[in-house]
Parts: sequence; C-alpha cells; structure tokens
Amino acid sequence: MLKRYNPQSVPVPARSSVVQIGETVAKQALLFFFCLLSVLFSNAQNSDSIMIRRIFEQALTKGEAYKNLEVLCRDYGKRLSGSPGAAGAVAYTKKLMEAYGFDSVWLQPMMVPHWVRGDQEMSFYINSKSEKKPLTICALGNSIGTEMIGLQARVIEVKNFKELDSLGRKQVEGKIVFFNHPMDQSKIWTFEAYGEAVEYRWAGAVNAAKYGAVGVMVRSVATSLDDYPHTGTMQYIDSIPKIPACAVSTLDAEELSAKLKLDTSIRVFFRQNCEMLPDVPSFNVIGEIFGTEAPKEFISVGGHLDAWETGTGAHDDGSGVMQSIEVLWLFKTLGIRPKHTIRAVMFMNEENGGRGGKKYADDAKAKGEKHLFALESDAGGFDPRGFFLPGR
Ligand SMILES: [Zn+2]
Repeated sequence: MLKRYNPQSVPVPARSSVVQIGETVAKQALLFFFCLLSVLFSNAQNSDSIMIRRIFEQALTKGEAYKNLEVLCRDYGKRLSGSPGAAGAVAYTKKLMEAYGFDSVWLQPMMVPHWVRGDQEMSFYINSKSEKKPLTICALGNSIGTEMIGLQARVIEVKNFKELDSLGRKQVEGKIVFFNHPMDQSKIWTFEAYGEAVEYRWAGAVNAAKYGAVGVMVRSVATSLDDYPHTGTMQYIDSIPKIPACAVSTLDAEELSAKLKLDTSIRVFFRQNCEMLPDVPSFNVIGEIFGTEAPKEFISVGGHLDAWETGTGAHDDGSGVMQSIEVLWLFKTLGIRPKHTIRAVMFMNEENGGRGGKKYADDAKAKGEKHLFALESDAGGFDPRGFFLPGR
C-alpha cells in the first residue's frame, strides 16, 4: 500500500502543449518513478491504481522537469567539471531541491579535474600541390595542447588498432595518426556501435604514441554525417609520451580519407591550446525524502551534472538530472511517503574523470549504507524504453 501524508486533491488541468523533449523528460521521470514503485510496493492493490493515475496526471500536466532543464541549459550550459558553470549548476540544483522542500539536501565534496579547452581549435590539410583545405575539429577532453604554432605532419589513416599495429613504428613515427572508424550503422542499439568506435577516442593517443606518432585525429563518434565534431574524453598513461588528440567532423573525416587514397603525401595541421589545470573542489548534489519504515536503506535515481562545454548538455545529461529531481518532486507534491529513503543524486565529473560516482560509492561503503536499488539516466532525454543492468 502507498502511504500518504497531507492528503490533497489534485485538480486535473487541461493538457498543456509541450514540445517533445518536455514530454519525454516527463515520461522518463515516470519510468524512474515506477521502477521505484515496483521495488517498494510489489503487492500493489486497487487503491494504488488511483494513486498511479494521479502520478501520471501530475507528471504529464504539471511536471516541472522541462522548465528546470531549460534553466540549467540556458544559465549553466557550459558546466564541465571545475568550471564556473559547474559551480553554478551545483548551487542551482541545491537551491531548487531546497525550494521543493525535500527532507534533506546536501553537498558531497570531492576534488575534480579542471581541463579547459582554450581558444577555438584550428586545422587544415595540405595536398601535394600545397593547397590548404580546412578541417573542422575539436580537442578531445583531457588532451594536451599543441605547441602555440600548431602541429604539422604527414598523416596516416587507420581503421582500427590492428591496422595500426601492422604498420608499426617504421610507418607511424613522426606522423599524425588518423583513426577513421565509423560507427556501425547496422546496430539497432546504437550504444553498441558507440562502444566500438569510442575506443579510438579513448585510447587512440596512447596506442599511436607507442609507435612514435606526434598527434592523433579521431573521426567524431557519431552516426550522422555532419560538420559538428563531438568531443569526449580520452586518457593518457604516464609511461607513454603524451601527444595531442582531437576529433574531426564525420564529413571532414570522409573527405580526408578520400583525398588520402589519391595522395598519400597529404599533411595535416592542427592547433589547440587546451590544458589540464590543477584539481579544484566540487560536489555531488543530493536530495532525499526520508523513508517511513527503513530510513537507513536507500533507493537512488540520478544523472550527471557536468556537461561538455561545446553544447548545453540538455540530453547529456541535464535531462537525467531533472528527471531524478522530478521523481522526488512527484513523491513530495502528491504526498506519498516512501518506506525507504529515496535519493536524487546529481553526480559531478562523469564526463572526464568519474570522480563523483567514485566518491558516492566510497562514502556509501564507508558509512555502511544499504542501497536496495540505484538507477541512472544517461542515454538522452528520449522516450523511455526501459533500463538495463550490466553484470559481470
Ligand atoms: Zn552522459
């Protein structure tokens, strides 16, 4: 049975016209909500169906997630870890949950990486006739910059690490390695294709540097052919020289690949002055509604608060954040009192370090907190189709 406090009647307003993302954000909040209900109230009874109807109506006609998402994206769009935007997003979501009157709202402190992109990146290729053609690039997160004058070298294209290994140091040393691994369009579940292609973004620089490469250009990890290179994180290993890494738009990757088939003497120039600054303090933001029967047992929903500064982070992952807050808001506004404590967690630094997730897990372990279930939304604010539990 659902337990209620402050019973109130909820009038049903006319269906408002909201744009698609607003509806899907509301639907995802509902998915979150009912995942929790299925855990909390496995023996749902008739009276619950009335409450469930009210939850639907509340979420779909009065939901606030979309409005809150708009504020987050508009005022704190550039919110990569360590940035003023990230600090603003922490303060905003804390204040928002306090205003909603959740039982407890608090910050979980940690140190986070502080990588900055710097000036607009620049790139072009030069063919054997000394003609220059521009390439649209962006630095990969955590990458070092080039020298101020930029980096220019012969370029060698590979599809994968196996091909890189077969070329070896003799053909790679002193060159820029161009990883041209398109996402597999035949995959219905696009995250599978993403997982295959993202390897080159994540580990391309390390693998190329082993053979003496001086830089790495990675085809933007995207299904569409366009001129908007996607950033994303990459890693270095201390024992291997660090070389600059950037993403090139899928359209320019196609062009560069086609030109290289005709002219192997092509050289690529790119310049980026991104850099990693010292770690800075930041926070996970956590809101709670206390459980009536087992307040020390937790069910959490969450998303990550940081976002790349090349966009506004609406899908990745502002929607996950606002859906999570909306779950608690639904409990609160409908007067549903859960048996277990429900948390909405805004994780910091998912994009280029994962420090927030680690801090949450470490603290939960140190405090001996029992978590019954934890659900994160980070697959975009689309129509909810379910959730998955990867296991090992
Ligand atoms: Zn994400």
